[in-house]
Amino acid sequence: MRKITMLVHGGAGPDSEFIKRNIEGYKKGLQEAVNAGYRILEEGGSALDAVEASVNYLEDNELFNAGRGSALNEKAEVEMDASIMDGKSVNCGAVAAVRNVKNPVTLARAIMDKTKHIYLCETGALEFAQKIGLKLMPDAYFITNHAFEQYTSAMEEEANTLEHAGEYQVRKKEHGTVGAVAVDREGNVAAATSTGGLENKVPGRIADSSMTGVGSYANNKTCAVSSTGDGEYMMRSVISFHVSAVMQYKGLQLKEACDYLMNEELKDVEGDMGIIAVDPFGNFAFEFNSERMHRAWRSSEGEQGVGIYKE
Ligand code: ASP
Repeated sequence: MRKITMLVHGGAGPDSEFIKRNIEGYKKGLQEAVNAGYRILEEGGSALDAVEASVNYLEDNELFNAGRGSALNEKAEVEMDASIMDGKSVNCGAVAAVRNVKNPVTLARAIMDKTKHIYLCETGALEFAQKIGLKLMPDAYFITNHAFEQYTSAMEEEANTLEHAGEYQVRKKEHGTVGAVAVDREGNVAAATSTGGLENKVPGRIADSSMTGVGSYANNKTCAVSSTGDGEYMMRSVISFHVSAVMQYKGLQLKEACDYLMNEELKDVEGDMGIIAVDPFGNFAFEFNSERMHRAWRSSEGEQGVGIYKE
């Protein structure tokens, strides 16, 4: 029987007191997220269903910056971005700056499955979610105490500085984002990514996480990738597609491709970046250049683990 593999991430970036205090909660959340997708694969379900289920779990878990627990923008509002991609059809769906939708990645999938488009944003995306009966929640559902504390301290700091937005982002380095990649019994790969974006972002700012080829990319010819980190850098690097491209064009294996990209091609990029990836044979890889990347993995060959730091 073919190997099945599931990987999830819960964001790459610097360490923090909040992460240290909640380490057990994070590990439990990552384990449960990977199990949610893995169960689907084990029962013969598709990689696409598996990545959606894992990301839904992380969107519902308030420790992670996606769905409930999303970072707040400058006006203390939640605007969420998500993407999903199916390696079999090489089709994809995405949503940007959407509010009140409990599970943005499910909306991204519905945009892929039920519309003639790929990418919807703001009110159009919300109206479509309402029309197809997706679960909506009031603003207060999404705003956690931690996100609000992050918001107030960022606002205080910003009030005391007059830095350029890009420099500000590099200095603050507060990231979350969740993602998943999977390969199913048929050898189909899929990727999904969902985020509340950067804390204290300008309203209307869109995260790389929702962009096909940056946040998520999947193609049965090569691999599935989900990324996390400083979005403004990762957009310039088209990071997820890049992994697939070096495999396809240079003939590299998955691990070599991830290693080449992060440790050679993009080694001088200043921003934090992290990727998780699988290929159609169940091989998997992850790389990050930051202090930590929350992650978990599980395969039908007994490989399994949860990690946060570079252990
Ligand atoms: N890439 C996300 C963004 O720029 C943040 C993250 O992955 O942590 O919004």
